[in-house]
Amino acid sequence: MVGVQRSREAAALFYCMCEQLVQWSTQTPPRIEEVGATRLAVKLPAEPSLLVNSTTTNELYSDHSTQSTLPVEDVQLLDTTLRDGEQAPGVSLTPEDKVEIAHALEAAGLDVIEAGSACTSEGERECIRGVTALGLDARVTSFARGVQSDIDHALDCDVDGITLVVPSSDRHIETKVGTTREGVIEKSVDLVEYAADHDLWVELLGEDGSRADPEFLVELSAAGLEAGADRICYADTVGHASPEHTYNIVSQLSELGPTSVHTHDDLGFGMTNVHAGLRAGADFVHGTINGIGERAGNVALEEVAIALSHSYGIETLHLPAVYELATTVSQKTGIPLAPNKAVIGQNTFTHESGIHTDGTLKDGAMYEPYPPETVGRERRLVLGKHAGRAGVTSALTEHGVDVTDEELATVVERVKALGDRGKRVTDADLLAIAEDVQGRERDRFVELLTLTTASGGDVPTASVKLRVGDEERIAAGTGSGPVDAAVKAVRKALGPAADAELDSFHVDAITGGTDAVVTVEVAMTRNDHSVSVAASDSDITRASVTAMIDALDRLLAADPPTQPVADD
Ligand SMILES: [Zn+2]
Repeated sequence: MVGVQRSREAAALFYCMCEQLVQWSTQTPPRIEEVGATRLAVKLPAEPSLLVNSTTTNELYSDHSTQSTLPVEDVQLLDTTLRDGEQAPGVSLTPEDKVEIAHALEAAGLDVIEAGSACTSEGERECIRGVTALGLDARVTSFARGVQSDIDHALDCDVDGITLVVPSSDRHIETKVGTTREGVIEKSVDLVEYAADHDLWVELLGEDGSRADPEFLVELSAAGLEAGADRICYADTVGHASPEHTYNIVSQLSELGPTSVHTHDDLGFGMTNVHAGLRAGADFVHGTINGIGERAGNVALEEVAIALSHSYGIETLHLPAVYELATTVSQKTGIPLAPNKAVIGQNTFTHESGIHTDGTLKDGAMYEPYPPETVGRERRLVLGKHAGRAGVTSALTEHGVDVTDEELATVVERVKALGDRGKRVTDADLLAIAEDVQGRERDRFVELLTLTTASGGDVPTASVKLRVGDEERIAAGTGSGPVDAAVKAVRKALGPAADAELDSFHVDAITGGTDAVVTVEVAMTRNDHSVSVAASDSDITRASVTAMIDALDRLLAADPPTQPVADD
């Protein structure tokens, strides 16, 4: 997939950047690890069954609840997609993008939206003002470094609060900022007082806290709370800490006052460290949607939200709005949704294997921990090399095709053979196989005869010649790119009676070279019918248009338009 390809490139870039880093932190002092591990062992008994209680919110999905309890009953989330998320390589959001994402965050019920970093530029301040002007229920904040002008810039954006970020590890204190531990505390106290005097909600975050001397971090945090900070935040800035270390430090911090956790995923411990922090008494979690962020990213808030709801009965987000939020963030940032990611991945509620499909058709909960609707998703059954009779029958029935037992056996065999060649079998493939097996001939509604595109100039244009029934239609269109222009030309040629919705559009490069054959898979819906179609070509525009026309052809056949398809 292009997405996978792009994330591979991103990964390669990430490794290049890492090579330039010369120093890594030393191990956490052993004494702290030991203490942490012992304390964790006390709170987390070896037998998980000891933590099980009898209440469950997913009774249909589990005969035996695995729900546990946390020391906190209420957890709040701070979303930093618009700040830490935007710091991911290659991401730059316009004021309009930020406003749109902020609306989606509000719809999902985020408690705090960190809208940006007001000190960055006038453009960034405009972005933040765009969000504060929305008058959201969520508290809107800005990131501020330990300098007064940053707080002034934040005030200038009319935010409700700030996360005041000061250095806490000696590396940051001495090498990056060039000050002393005493200097940091003094400055932090002054700035917390200054911000609080200006009626800002203040969270004091010791940057690189996971590599800081724990004693100093505690001292700094205590001084911040004393000076009037509303909360303190433990930050694992480089995603370096073990869960035991996190547990130990957060235990000490949460004894001082309200404590947040900010974790990164460089070791894949992002989520585990959130859990360790909450178990140690934190009640507030920083993260981003889809886990985007610098390097390996931040903890994904949609995962935090579903995990807290499912496993602890703690509700943090309006979960049905989460998928819409995830797709908005993906579209605006250009970072695709990883297919295998929890909650948001394309495969998360998709079943292909015969055994799983058969089981899922008998009981939706068979191979899922919670219903897809919980997070605004739908279950999908797809066909491939693992297809079985139940899945194929169900797909054929959905498209109104009846087959005999004998025909079904042949269709299943051919679907599996197609899957064996490494292909995902689309609806159009299945229908074509069924037609062939049953010896049915079908007249196409629409067919692409020629496609001409011109791009590289000012305005990408495309013209198409289609056969619609007995007549030929020619239309031209312009668009933001050749695919867009060609799609507009097709729409023009067919007229509004043939309009259908494009549900998804995926491009899959089969090889990595410039001579790659690309496969475009589209899913489209018209009235109550949905269909998936794939088309391959060395020309991405032609593959896209062919796939969409084939999909329209199937949709029009399933539900012929009442008005004639006209080129108005
Ligand atoms: Zn961060």
